[in-house]
Amino acid sequence: MPVRVETFSRIEDAERALSANQAARFFGGGTILMRAVNEGDQSFDTLVRLTDPAFAEIRPEGARITIGAGVTMNQIMASPDLAFLAPVARSVGGPAVRSSASVGGNLYAAAPYGDFATALLALDATLTFAGQAGAPMRIDAFMRERDRHANRIVSAISIERPRESGAFRWLKVSRVKPKGLAVLSIAAHLPRSGGAIRVAYGNMGSTPVRAAAVEQALQGAPLTEQGIGPALAAATEGLSPPSDSLASVWYRREVAPVHLKRLLLGQTG
Ligand SMILES: Cc1cc2nc3c(=O)[nH]c(=O)nc-3n(C[C@H](O)[C@H](O)[C@H](O)COP(=O)(O)OP(=O)(O)OC[C@H]3O[C@@H](n4cnc5c(N)ncnc54)[C@H](O)[C@@H]3O)c2cc1C
Repeated sequence: MPVRVETFSRIEDAERALSANQAARFFGGGTILMRAVNEGDQSFDTLVRLTDPAFAEIRPEGARITIGAGVTMNQIMASPDLAFLAPVARSVGGPAVRSSASVGGNLYAAAPYGDFATALLALDATLTFAGQAGAPMRIDAFMRERDRHANRIVSAISIERPRESGAFRWLKVSRVKPKGLAVLSIAAHLPRSGGAIRVAYGNMGSTPVRAAAVEQALQGAPLTEQGIGPALAAATEGLSPPSDSLASVWYRREVAPVHLKRLLLGQTG
């Protein structure tokens, strides 16, 4: 079946085209969708593209930064405002993938993908949808019910800059170095001078997830061998890691505390 491509310069028009056709898919950078096209996926017949330059812009606004959902991993790596996120973007695929892979597409990417979304979860990002009335949606709420938001368009993602350097930490564990799919990934926001502690895992569930028990155990705890003991004991509490070709459930549960310890003690280099 041929696939039609519809291109729009206004997000409202792209959204209208998407909601008018259940067999239409929004096209970000196409690193996942083009593979589906090439494999003959019959679940869609139309790709909806958006050319609005604002969709691919990074806008610092005081303490917050707005990232257009069409921004690519290469753009993240080149942005001085997002230097703390450069290692995350650099960990996504190889150079060809990163030149097209978008932030918006990463939010919808099924496991084992979703590295950038894991980082956004630790940063408590908020998402704005095209045509959405009302307040932006927090990313943890989005991840809990991601399927309900299929065939909408995320227009932008907003994050607060970490106030201290080193407050944001990132670790991706993969079997193939330097680039490979994540056995698991961990992102954390660990401010020393107060503020919310957040820890998120990638590939420890069907979508990126917050590690609530770890976060609770870290409240007021020093980041020392002894201080992080309760957090490591709770490393996989409440989580349902997948079993896939990269690793079994058992393996993920075994190695999660080991890597969490390295991240918390700053031993990731
Ligand atoms: C060889 C290879 C290696 C890869 N390695 C990694 C990796 O290491 N880590 C990783 O996380 N990912 C990896 N990926 C997956 C993928 O490249 C990224 O997840 C990328 O960020 C997806 O974005 P995209 O714009 O290309 O998505 P697309 O292919 O354009 O779309 C993917 C899905 O997201 C939806 N979508 C896209 N943009 C939006 C939007 N703004 N609003 C709503 N829905 C949207 C689409 O409708 C579609 O359902 C890899 C892919 C390949 C082919």
